[in-house]
Amino acid sequence: MYDLIVVGAGIAGSEAALACAREGLDVLLVTTSLDTVYNLAGDGATLTPPPGTLMAELVAEVRAERGAAPGTVEAEEETEVETEVWVATSALHRAAKRTLEHHPKLHLLQSSVSSLLVEGGAVRGVATWEGVDRLAPLVALCAGSFLGARLRVGELTEVSGRLSEMAYDDLFENLEALGFVLEPETLTAPSSRGSLPYTVRCSRFAASEWERERFTLPRLSGLYAAGVCAVGEMSYERAAQQGVALAGALLASTSP
Ligand SMILES: Cc1cc2nc3c(=O)[nH]c(=O)nc-3n(C[C@H](O)[C@H](O)[C@H](O)COP(=O)(O)OP(=O)(O)OC[C@H]3O[C@@H](n4cnc5c(N)ncnc54)[C@H](O)[C@@H]3O)c2cc1C
Repeated sequence: MYDLIVVGAGIAGSEAALACAREGLDVLLVTTSLDTVYNLAGDGATLTPPPGTLMAELVAEVRAERGAAPGTVEAEEETEVETEVWVATSALHRAAKRTLEHHPKLHLLQSSVSSLLVEGGAVRGVATWEGVDRLAPLVALCAGSFLGARLRVGELTEVSGRLSEMAYDDLFENLEALGFVLEPETLTAPSSRGSLPYTVRCSRFAASEWERERFTLPRLSGLYAAGVCAVGEMSYERAAQQGVALAGALLASTSP
């Protein structure tokens, strides 16, 4: 039994899980693959890390490591935004995993959540693909673009939320069966460094399902959602800010 289960260790889920663990909640952060924890698509990213986020800590840590691992990170010369840095995303991923796994109140688990456990109009935990139930009175969905995801490159269509990242439909189908209204959306990633352009079709909660300001999904008490299903400038930073704000909402719900 945990205090909180966060589904998806992308940017938003990692930020939320760690912020809650640091405030003393016992947190399970469950994600489909440990290879894609705090994943930023592509080989590198230019970031303006918002203060107070794990992203800001990781970027600082990775920059400090530069002497030990030459070439992993380069500070931009003079940019319009002074704090903007180019970060090797693999270095960021490794630093994030280290930080998350090292926190004693956080359990980082590789598994896929296939359904929500529900009792009397409230969420009670999650069922995982392997058949093991995990219990908590609070569940936060941070699945990004992985709900009902289909990736299309040329004539090829894969069940995937990004290039090389598997998505499974179980949770999406379970949410629909529970009555949640999800709306499809198509995102296009432009060609980059010689790779083909591709599109991702994914689903997001309809406005009627999601109280954005409080991050709640009122259809089930104890259920929260955050993260962004978007392509574009600053969406990594927005996901980080969403994760921190989600943590604030979750912590507020646990205070007497
Ligand atoms: C095609 C594409 C290209 C993009 N390019 C850019 C870009 O160039 N620049 C930019 O700033 N932003 C870009 N974005 C947006 C960026 O990826 C998102 O803003 C950011 O990753 C969202 O973070 P998140 O934490 O909400 O979700 P994600 O980073 O998507 O993380 C969600 C995580 O949840 C996991 N997950 C999902 N379902 C389950 C489940 N049932 N059980 C367990 N784990 C689960 C997934 O495996 C994933 O690791 C792109 C997005 C897409 C789709």
